[in-house]
Amino acid sequence: MLNVYLSWKRGFQLSYKRKMNAVGPYTLVFEYPRSVNFMCERCAICCGDTEVRTRRILVLKLEAKRISKKTGKSIAEFADRTVGSEPYAYEMRKDTNGKCVFLRSNECSIYGIRPLVCTFYPFELKPTGSNTFVFSYTDECPFIGRGPELKKEYFGKLFARSKALIKRTSNKRAQDAPNLLD
Ligand code: SF4
Ligand code: SF4
Repeated sequence: MLNVYLSWKRGFQLSYKRKMNAVGPYTLVFEYPRSVNFMCERCAICCGDTEVRTRRILVLKLEAKRISKKTGKSIAEFADRTVGSEPYAYEMRKDTNGKCVFLRSNECSIYGIRPLVCTFYPFELKPTGSNTFVFSYTDECPFIGRGPELKKEYFGKLFARSKALIKRTSNKRAQDAPNLLD
């Protein structure tokens, strides 16, 4: 049984205890930016390319399957296979304006099932050691620096959401592991 518990010592720690096998308990720790203000205003800038950046909207296999099931579209209709972007299997297609195919009237039409990378933006999570991770952010989001100051609970929720990815990544050497989000 997977027992997840939280510890607030030396930053915020997420630990997993496996009782049923020989893996034993291990602890995953993350660092997060202090004094950053943010609130998403759904401007949709991150839903596609900008003048300065080509955005890759990476999608996990299970996310692509879920979107396919909910929308009735085949995966090939909205995403392309990726190579060398593990653990991501797909990349969202964009329209001729460089915007995600699910963006309609500047709103996400699959908001409830949008990929993890979309829920993370403008933050990303990068492995810095075998069990350590760091959050960083891009200020290409115009609402970074506005809104409430983010507390560790905010990053803790993001961290918990990505735990399946973290578990896969934490088996690799940090320098070989991909950024969890981009
Ligand atoms: S660019 Fe920032 S404010 Fe705009 S939709 Fe993306 S995360 Fe939200
Ligand atoms: S899935 Fe939704 S939130 Fe993600 S890029 Fe597409 S429109 Fe934006």
